[in-house]
Amino acid sequence: MTERVTSSGLLRSEEEDPRIRPTRFEEFIGQSGVKETLAIAIAAAKQRGEALDHILFSGPPGLGKTTLAHIVAREMGVSIRSTSGPVLEKPGDLAAQLTALNRGDILFIDEIHRLNPVVEEILYPAMEDCSIDVMIGEGPGARAVQLPLEEFTLIGATTKVGLLGSPLRDRFGFIFRLNLYDVEDLVRIVRRSAAIMKTPITDEGAIEIARRSRGTPRIANRLLRRVRDYAIVRGDGRIDAATAESALTMLGIDPLGLDELDRRILRVIGEDFSGGPVGVRTIAISIGEEVRTVEEVYEPYLIQIGFIKRTPQGREITEAALRHINGD
Ligand code: ADP
Repeated sequence: MTERVTSSGLLRSEEEDPRIRPTRFEEFIGQSGVKETLAIAIAAAKQRGEALDHILFSGPPGLGKTTLAHIVAREMGVSIRSTSGPVLEKPGDLAAQLTALNRGDILFIDEIHRLNPVVEEILYPAMEDCSIDVMIGEGPGARAVQLPLEEFTLIGATTKVGLLGSPLRDRFGFIFRLNLYDVEDLVRIVRRSAAIMKTPITDEGAIEIARRSRGTPRIANRLLRRVRDYAIVRGDGRIDAATAESALTMLGIDPLGLDELDRRILRVIGEDFSGGPVGVRTIAISIGEEVRTVEEVYEPYLIQIGFIKRTPQGREITEAALRHINGD
């Protein structure tokens, strides 16, 4: 049986080895500008004895937003509570999280662009004045009471910063955009994870995995685990270029890291719609995925490698992509 590894496995549900998640800045590879700015902000906040300013991380899934939030908490020496936009359905859900924070603590809200607008409204005074308005009672006798909060830091993560309204965006002191990683950084990530997993790997083996990881540490780690399994069953457990190549080919991951769904997206645009332009909704329906998954998980990499162009009329395929799917 061959396993199909799709990029949508990127969404948070998949199993992850907690040992390979970096816990300090020194272990967090790449994104040096972000790390440097954060380190300075943390040192300054500690010197002043104040909570850190609110932080927003944006970028495709699997680039390290959650990891950074935890590193920041650790470096600040405070606790972190984690939740996510869709989980906070009612104002009371957010109020419960906020009132449980101690001074200086961090509230991490993943997928913050998916917050219910009524819940989002509670965040504004919380972020600005450390207070929330809660309604006491019901009906005509109901009244709003202002409840003070401890000073805290909000860390938001989003895959779609464009969906965040400016009232929310403007309340963050720092907005960091995480970029896809280059192969060199991914090689370092693969080597580090392999060492933690006690899996011997050659430089060429690490490069082969890194090159097929679509610029994404989470994918690099997942491919490493699959290749390691293959190396154990088919070989002596060592990962070299040949093992990595055959394992990844067996999993349907091509030399550029594209999987079956990426290739279907390209074929829909290239063949069914003669190269485009075609709307993202149509693409999503054709391949049976959600629009969000196509936009947030698949497209960033296809755009980055110059296979898809976004135009006002829709998505267009490029010559390079056509050559790739036609195998020339
Ligand atoms: P996001 O929140 O952006 O979806 P995560 O922070 O959950 O991404 O990161 C996914 C996984 O990738 C983590 O478990 C971690 O092991 C790994 N990872 C992410 N960024 C890095 C990095 N810069 N260096 C090393 N490992 C990383």
